[in-house]
Amino acid sequence: MLVRRLPSKTAHQFGEHAKMKLKVLIVAGDGIGPEVTAEAARILRSVAEWGGHDFEFHEALIGGAAIKAQGTPLPSSTLDTALESDAVLLGAVGGNEFNSLPPDRRPEAGLLQIRQALGGFANLRPAFAHPALAANSPLKPEVIDGADILFVRELLGGLYFGEPRQWDREAGSAWNTMRYTRDEVIRVARIAFELAQKRRKKLTSVDKANVLEVSQLWRATVTEVAKDYPDVALDHQYVDAMSMHLMNTPRNFDVVLTENLFGDILSDESAVITGSLGMLPSATIGGQVNLYEPVHGSAPDIAGKGIANPLGAILTAAMLLRHSANLEQDALAIETAVRKVLEQGYRTADLARSEKDKKMLLSTQAMGKQVHEALNEIIDKRQAMHAV
Ligand code: NAD
Repeated sequence: MLVRRLPSKTAHQFGEHAKMKLKVLIVAGDGIGPEVTAEAARILRSVAEWGGHDFEFHEALIGGAAIKAQGTPLPSSTLDTALESDAVLLGAVGGNEFNSLPPDRRPEAGLLQIRQALGGFANLRPAFAHPALAANSPLKPEVIDGADILFVRELLGGLYFGEPRQWDREAGSAWNTMRYTRDEVIRVARIAFELAQKRRKKLTSVDKANVLEVSQLWRATVTEVAKDYPDVALDHQYVDAMSMHLMNTPRNFDVVLTENLFGDILSDESAVITGSLGMLPSATIGGQVNLYEPVHGSAPDIAGKGIANPLGAILTAAMLLRHSANLEQDALAIETAVRKVLEQGYRTADLARSEKDKKMLLSTQAMGKQVHEALNEIIDKRQAMHAV
């Protein structure tokens, strides 16, 4: 369906929002990365055109594609362009043909390097229940109904980066170090409290303070930071209990703040609320340049078939508009468009469970096009309302 678009200047004439300037680097990566990123980028380009914004897009190589072309998973030209950008949109990296390479030369090394170089320490991972997909979750519909959690995972500290770390093969012994400084906890806690203020004003901090000193520092510091946010209700949970509460009563949680390893595990566990890995977006903020990537990987098993779900990548584009362009209304419009398309019954293969679903099966591109059309209608209505 073709929808007539109002001239872009109409938006400004009626003061809908200011014209934004944004430089976006697209690093599509490997496997389904380029397929899903193409759909997310199409949406971003249209939002820019419809709103009269000045978005500049650049593309660069990362992961296996970069290894093949330039012999390294993160070429310096990619990193330089990333550091000059306002936001980086990443697809996914990895592929079976690279599995025999040493860890520091594999595609995934490029991902870790770019995350570290951009400096983002707060990884935001929403986990939410789409009513239209209730049957896709292994949890009962009445358990997940209304669940809407935002995980804030500390991304640059804890066990993943703590020194010393080693596997002493001769001694048959290995160790990692879970270490946090007070300042590292304060900076990520502030982001979590500020996000909670914009949501339902509830923050759950997860630790293991009954056993670990590093968690005792975490809990004491978060409690101290909470004094600056009296409008946000804070509670603390131990990580083992939290893993159970998330599956029993996911509706009880709003913003969940936690350290690197606990956040990795709990946010993946909570993917069952949404029902498919292909639905989940993420944003990493707080550093020099924000990094946006869907949660899923390169999915080599379905790459090149045109059947990947682009909705995680499209919802990631919404997070980019929200956190790097201050375009909250456009971010919400994309989220609404995705919901609408799912309510209309459209499905990609990963979402199609019933015979009815299978009759509404769409390719990656066709799903992107449906969201694009739904978004076009939403924005048209919004502009028409401003015009009367
Ligand atoms: P994966 O996320 O790529 O795939 C897991 C399963 O989910 C597969 O069956 C896949 O087909 C399916 N899936 C994932 N995304 C989908 C989508 N958008 N639509 C439909 N189905 C989807 O994880 P994996 O198989 O463990 O890893 C594959 C490769 O990706 C590995 O090389 C891994 O290292 C890499 N990886 C990269 C990232 C990243 O780039 N951020 C994250 C995780 C894994």
